[in-house]
Amino acid sequence: MEFSFCPDCGARLERRDLGDEKGVAWCESCGRPWFAVFPVAVIALVYNDSGEVLLLRQNYISTEFHNLVSGYVKPGEDAESCVVREIKEETGLEVDRVRLIFTDWFAKKEMMMIGFFAHAACSKLELSSEVDSAEWVEASLIKELLSPRPGSTSRRLALCFLNEREA
Ligand SMILES: [Zn+2]
Repeated sequence: MEFSFCPDCGARLERRDLGDEKGVAWCESCGRPWFAVFPVAVIALVYNDSGEVLLLRQNYISTEFHNLVSGYVKPGEDAESCVVREIKEETGLEVDRVRLIFTDWFAKKEMMMIGFFAHAACSKLELSSEVDSAEWVEASLIKELLSPRPGSTSRRLALCFLNEREA
């Protein structure tokens, strides 16, 4: 989101060149720039030692496809801690190995997605009210169950996981 007015004082923002950055929104009365902001979310492919991946059903996201654990990063939180927190909150699982795989610009929602693999030490689920159901699925089957939409972050993460397993 690009600012038109200063979030602090309400003044209309000007455009100003700041070093290499051209046309940055600038508040003359506060003497500071306002760069565009966007939400940042993590998405995690959670796997266990039995060769299974955790897929969720969350009807508020999709009634057609399964999805992976995801959630917004809070101010003051790093993405790695956010993954651990979201997995715990949504599924009750403790994860012990969290690995950054890629970052992805989700154009439809204008947000940054940060993709991780996370290893669950045990498989016992305790679902939050945001999750309608969840199941451990044999990894080779997950491609069929996630959104086939080109550019889907969950699909991209699943393909990375499967490629790595085959390598
Ligand atoms: Zn201002």
